[in-house]
Amino acid sequence: MRQDQEDPYQRRSAPVYAAADRAGPGSVASPRAVLYDAVLLDRDGTLIEDVPYNGDPEKVRPVPGARAALDRLRAAGLRLAVVTNQSGLARGYFTGEQMRAVHARVEELLGRFDAWLVCPHDDADGCDCRKPAPGLVYAAARELGTTPSRCVLVGDIGRDVGAAMAAGAAGVLVPTPVTRPEEVAAAGWTATDLPAAVAEILRRQQAVQPSTPPTEPVRTALVVRSDSAGDVLVTGPAIRAVAAGAERVVLLCGPRGRAAANLLPGVDEIIEHPLPWIDPAPGPVDPEAMRSLTARLGAVGADQAVVFTSFHQSALPLALLLRMAGIDRIAAISDDYPGSLLDIRHRVPVGVPEPERALSLAAAAGHQLPDGDEPVLRLRRDAVPPRPADLGDPGYVVLHPGSAASSRACPPEVATRIVGALADAGHRVLVTGGPDERAVTARVAAAGGTDLGGRTDLAGLAAIVADASAVVVGNTGPAHLAAAAGVPVVSLFAPTVPFGQWGPYRVPTVRLGDAAAPCRDTRAASCPVPGHPCLSGVEPGDVVDALRILAVSGGGGR
Ligand SMILES: [Zn+2]
Repeated sequence: MRQDQEDPYQRRSAPVYAAADRAGPGSVASPRAVLYDAVLLDRDGTLIEDVPYNGDPEKVRPVPGARAALDRLRAAGLRLAVVTNQSGLARGYFTGEQMRAVHARVEELLGRFDAWLVCPHDDADGCDCRKPAPGLVYAAARELGTTPSRCVLVGDIGRDVGAAMAAGAAGVLVPTPVTRPEEVAAAGWTATDLPAAVAEILRRQQAVQPSTPPTEPVRTALVVRSDSAGDVLVTGPAIRAVAAGAERVVLLCGPRGRAAANLLPGVDEIIEHPLPWIDPAPGPVDPEAMRSLTARLGAVGADQAVVFTSFHQSALPLALLLRMAGIDRIAAISDDYPGSLLDIRHRVPVGVPEPERALSLAAAAGHQLPDGDEPVLRLRRDAVPPRPADLGDPGYVVLHPGSAASSRACPPEVATRIVGALADAGHRVLVTGGPDERAVTARVAAAGGTDLGGRTDLAGLAAIVADASAVVVGNTGPAHLAAAAGVPVVSLFAPTVPFGQWGPYRVPTVRLGDAAAPCRDTRAASCPVPGHPCLSGVEPGDVVDALRILAVSGGGGR
């Protein structure tokens, strides 16, 4: 609905008021591989001081630093939209005319916005646009000629971040005194104020683009990502960036990441070898194995090595082996002093999503995604087998209760109740798990789903996930398979590691679970708290509601 139309009540889900008096923006989606085309801003409490149900332009007061911060975004070529819940319209506290006068005053003080998207409903209307529903984010992206994944939304409450995530956009929470502590805990990205949020948006945007191209051409690049399937999958965009700048890419991975490595585009060869300084349950260091690994790495003939790690992993022991293997251009993230082990020592602040963290290292090494390649997770099409025919039509919900780390798995009794609730709501549920998780998947599926425990390898699971309408999963590899397929995720996220770094990347997501549970930031592999409280409190009805927010219906459609 346009801002110049008077009656906001004609349609139950009238999506938006937009800036009708302005020329259509056309497509602005940048061909360059940037993170963001647009910044969406909540109005009350984010751009201007929150005056409840304000219909008076005289009461508009921008938050400190707002004008200068917005002008920085405009100068960087980012488009701006306001996305705001105004239930005062539904409740009759002010008129559409008064609201437009307020918006005119906002633009007088803060400059022009490319679009205004307003939800005029209140909660009782059950519309698709009142945040945390994602309707305004979808509408804003459409108005601005881009996609939600290329938008970042700044807001002051959990509803704002929830709407962003449910559309697959990034969300920055700028807390105010009214922001609830649990909303702050659940947010993957927070900033102290609007100027700080803007500074970090621009920093992240800049960080994935090389400041200088590689000084010498790269014939063979050796990229490294040890650890598990999820770790390898989230490094995929960065590996594609390196592949765009190198003739040949050799990936060193560990045994637990091998199946994921096979799925990555851009990889020409794979070397599989465990790294005892990375593995969570390492064997003793075997000098002979290290000598043999060094020889294999030397035989690659790489003229550049890019060593990807997650935070709290060290790239330096491998950098030493790479030096001994004769590789003289090595890039890695290291807070620890690297001496002469690294040519490019890259630093990244805590909280950056793993795929962007890795992309920023690739950029520091001179590489970026080619034009037209989005910074999203992707799989090689030819590496994913056809889906088993006996699973019926696409449109089912996948529930994956397990995880390699038990601290991040959904408790089986909770998963069982979720399956029952989903079945009651009309969803077809497939329960997936590895060969060692068959007892759990059988028990969980008995509540009303189909047990696929042990039936698939990772590639087969990717095929099943790709045809799902949504995946319900903890912080584990299949969440990243869903992201790679663009399939919405209900994330049962144990807060042992930061959600902002490890949450499903650039895919519509609803986060459930207690983000402030005592296991927060412990990086524990098995839950350190009796009863696994971060996930044991998830209510099955919350999962059903999450699917509704993600527009996944129980009829099998989406
Ligand atoms: Zn609405």
